[in-house]
Amino acid sequence: MKIDGDAFNQRIIAGAREVIDEYKLIDPNELVVVALSGGKDSVLTLHILADLMGELEFDLVAVSIDEGVAGYRSEGVEAARLNCESLGIKLVEGSFKDEFGFKLDDLHGMYQSSCIPCGVFRRQLLNKISHQLGADKLATGHNLDDEIQSFLMSLAKAEIRRFYKFGPKLDKIHPDMVPRIKPLWKTHEKDVGIWAVLNNIEVHFAECPYSATSLRSKIKGYLNQLEEKRPGTKLSMLKSFSKSFKFEKKDVQMGVCSLCGEPSSLDVCMACEMMAEINDRIK
Ligand code: SF4
Repeated sequence: MKIDGDAFNQRIIAGAREVIDEYKLIDPNELVVVALSGGKDSVLTLHILADLMGELEFDLVAVSIDEGVAGYRSEGVEAARLNCESLGIKLVEGSFKDEFGFKLDDLHGMYQSSCIPCGVFRRQLLNKISHQLGADKLATGHNLDDEIQSFLMSLAKAEIRRFYKFGPKLDKIHPDMVPRIKPLWKTHEKDVGIWAVLNNIEVHFAECPYSATSLRSKIKGYLNQLEEKRPGTKLSMLKSFSKSFKFEKKDVQMGVCSLCGEPSSLDVCMACEMMAEINDRIK
């Protein structure tokens, strides 16, 4: 089936704009940081926000994190650089090696899935850099598929405390924590891929070699099967979650980690706890 490129692009932009307006994701004069991996979702987020920054009067900077995955991450970082260059957006780069002293590859086999330490350290570093830059919001490329997958993962692991992390806009729960926003909250992952191909955008399409070990990839396969048999299932699930749960900070008490001083809901944050295990094993 031939796709009308202009109509498709307009639909994608209108979908993100609807989320930005409906949930008031960005206020005038704010500095928004885009978490830019170089993958299709974060690149689309960058393009949409770059397009809107004049009209909505906010500033934009991108941040890329190199986790240290050989044969994978460098291409993503390169795509991030190319897109920032073409849009005239400043890119700040950080890496696990520089910040924590190891690459993700060094941790291979230490955890059930490499995604576990990857998520913990990346979230912390993204927030740290965004806060240092003075960001008011941290925009991520989370799409509709990601959101439902994350929700089901938390449900499967009985991590009810994580429910506050769902929704298109997170509350500011600590002065040093930059609230996250998700402009692609209602955008299907499949459509993001089509957008990148249709518009010839420089995007890193490869899958991370560690992704197959994650619970997310299993849930993703299941949801895709469901959607194929019953189109509209994913959107219905998102609507059900939104109605069933209030996306507020509620019971989350944030303080700072007693070791590193970064925001944490625990006395010692997950990153410091993992660092201790890692130091025992690899240093
Ligand atoms: Fe990190 Fe897992 Fe994503 Fe790979 S798939 S970049 S290990 S979170």
